[in-house]
Amino acid sequence: KDFLDKVKFKKGRFSLENQVVHAVNDVSFDVEQGEVFSLVGESGCGKSTTARTVIKLIEPKAGKITFDGRDITRLKPQEMRPVRREMQMIFQDPYASLNPRQKVMEILTEPMLFHKLCTSKAEAEEKAVNLLERVGLSSEQANRYPHQFSGGQRQRIGIARALAVEPKFIIADEPVSALDVSIQAQILNILMDLKDEFHFSYLFIAHDLSVVKHISDSLGVMYLGSIVERAPKKALFRNPVHPYTKALFSAAPTIDENNIAESQELRGEIPSPIHLPSGCLFHDRCPMACPDCARKVPELKEVEPGHFAACHLL
Ligand code: SF4
Ligand code: MG
Repeated sequence: KDFLDKVKFKKGRFSLENQVVHAVNDVSFDVEQGEVFSLVGESGCGKSTTARTVIKLIEPKAGKITFDGRDITRLKPQEMRPVRREMQMIFQDPYASLNPRQKVMEILTEPMLFHKLCTSKAEAEEKAVNLLERVGLSSEQANRYPHQFSGGQRQRIGIARALAVEPKFIIADEPVSALDVSIQAQILNILMDLKDEFHFSYLFIAHDLSVVKHISDSLGVMYLGSIVERAPKKALFRNPVHPYTKALFSAAPTIDENNIAESQELRGEIPSPIHLPSGCLFHDRCPMACPDCARKVPELKEVEPGHFAACHLL
């Protein structure tokens, strides 16, 4: 009852009356052409919200989004349509993003024809078969429905569909976290091969540092809707400086022991994004917190070239 008093259910959505949810705040990063920028952090830290804002599925209240040299922040939906073709998304649960009533052939050819990337249905079908082979599926599988595939195969279909519209930039939102470990590596390899072949840029989202260690060029670590540390991969893995990043590293089993000076356990739960903590957002969970941390917001400081972190201790 307490929950229903606070929350309204309308049009299939829960919403909080008169409450502002601070989903993402003051997040800034660049993704260069042909590079992988990864956002990592615990679930609920704003990674997906950031991704959806970049592609403008969520309208930002402030700030600026630039794509391929063009400011797209204020573009209207119809102006956004051709831009969005060049920015494709791959989701954690491919099944939810595939129309269960469409055969794979239709799933792949429909966007090509819609965006006029092919002049005929036959041309689109030929292209679809090539795409399927490119992601490790066979042409015979084009006449099946999504439910006839395994999770890993569906993710291959999701990737083929993203490729179908010839994007420049791919947002991969936890694309392997629902898959078996053996399948995860296969999917990551496909994504990396495609990057080498087509020079895509990726915004890659993960909660698991071991997933992004090998594929990233740069990373941003998010906590409660903000980036607390951002650096080129080598610098971040050699020298993580923010207490939250250190805690994430010490929770990750695959990181070499000698990379981490001290292991730091994370205590407590992620605070509610409705009532953000004062000062440093991490202060009530931080093993290094001092009295100042609850009062003053730390700003991002450059600790070495290209390596930024927000902590009063730096
Ligand atoms: Fe911890 Fe204070 Fe640094 Fe925040 S500013 S991460 S609370 S030491
Ligand atoms: Mg998410």
